[in-house]
Amino acid sequence: MARHKNTNIYAGVRGHGSFKQTVPGIARFGVLEAYRKYSLRDKEAGGTLWDFAKAPPGVKIFFSNRRKFGVSKSPYNSMNLGFHVGDDPAAVDRNRMRFARGLGLDPSRLTCPRQRHTGIVSVLDREEQVGSGAHTDESVFDPCDGLVTTMENAPILLHFADCLPVVLAGRAGGKPAIGVLHAGRQGLEEGVVANGVKAMVENLGVERGSIVAALGPAIAPCCYEVGEMKTHGFRKRFGGDVVVDGANLDLAAAAIADLKASGVIAERIHLLDICTSCSDDFYSYRREGVTGRHGAIAWISK
Ligand SMILES: [Zn+2]
Repeated sequence: MARHKNTNIYAGVRGHGSFKQTVPGIARFGVLEAYRKYSLRDKEAGGTLWDFAKAPPGVKIFFSNRRKFGVSKSPYNSMNLGFHVGDDPAAVDRNRMRFARGLGLDPSRLTCPRQRHTGIVSVLDREEQVGSGAHTDESVFDPCDGLVTTMENAPILLHFADCLPVVLAGRAGGKPAIGVLHAGRQGLEEGVVANGVKAMVENLGVERGSIVAALGPAIAPCCYEVGEMKTHGFRKRFGGDVVVDGANLDLAAAAIADLKASGVIAERIHLLDICTSCSDDFYSYRREGVTGRHGAIAWISK
């Protein structure tokens, strides 16, 4: 089933519309139950994020948008969180500062991998790793497209413009654990989502049944035509449901397929079903080419 220019979904996000169910067994309805709008404390900035309401106790999960509360100029306007896209680094640093402080976090503790569209997931487990990539594009996690941790006060921030943010939370021996994954076409094919669950379970000792997954905004099949050649690997790994209209990919459906295959309970998988290319609340590489990056962030509070 194709997802068309989804004004209904965008309207739904504002609290009025209905939601199409395009992935069997996964509720795309009830977005407002699982995700709610959240304003940063910084009144000057006045920005709005999506807060994942089903995060377990002690875990915070947010998805940023591009609007209002940043200082970056066009074409990065305004809340660009990515250093590597050609924006003024001072502006990105200022944005990250506002973003972190607005959430009550120390900006210097933001831990950011150097994302390269791989399936590599690393474990954040040492204090000296915390804050890597906070103020520059350099990171000890290079390459890396997913980070998992049980450390408190070690916020993991990854950035996106169309790729799918997949945030995991679970419990390891009664303590919270989190993971943030960057899942684009290549990363998904390389198994970043399956590897993320594996790292949570095998490296952190997370009980598989405790895992909850929050999928953030990403390009939807309505806008993600890749040509038939590029659909083959995807179809082979995830099955026919991830290809729509012959040449359009459904990243969320692929991630959900891997989550379920990895033993994550379907009812614990939630999707914020906004197409980043349809909604100009978000950065879209497909729509704009040179543009900024919005973020997915998770942390375990002290
Ligand atoms: Zn779209």
